[in-house]
Amino acid sequence: MGRIPFLLIVAAFAATAARAQQPGDAPAVPTIYTAAPARAHKDMRATVHPFWDHKNMWLFSGVGASRALDYASTLNLRHRGRHEILLTDAVVDNHALFAGIEATGTAVSIGASYLFHRTGHHKIERWVSIIHIGVATGGSIRNYALKSAHPAPNPAP
Ligand SMILES: [Zn+2]
Repeated sequence: MGRIPFLLIVAAFAATAARAQQPGDAPAVPTIYTAAPARAHKDMRATVHPFWDHKNMWLFSGVGASRALDYASTLNLRHRGRHEILLTDAVVDNHALFAGIEATGTAVSIGASYLFHRTGHHKIERWVSIIHIGVATGGSIRNYALKSAHPAPNPAP
């Protein structure tokens, strides 16, 4: 290869490379490899909801309400002479302690939802509350549906 053809090839290559980098033209590297990750990241951030959004506020309110219903239905059950099965009667009969346990149950449920939210499991995050509401409400319905113990125990004079 003579010197002139070699220089022509180098010049042609340089011109092609320079042309490819002009603004407005497609970059030499395909767009999908450079722009797509940034776009995907932006889209992902846009779809992640805030933890304290409307759905969670309703769900957490539902968890608190179902826990309050559980509290009321369990005291009702105790007043009708039945016995608590998950905790002891002594714990339930200490109303402040039992209310604290119900509040703690609500807080732990919200905490579990938060962990799932932070780790990107947003469906499970919602299901924690939905299942909690279902179980607590179902238990409360059962408590109210139980027949009173006969004869009802008389409190010690
Ligand atoms: Zn979430």
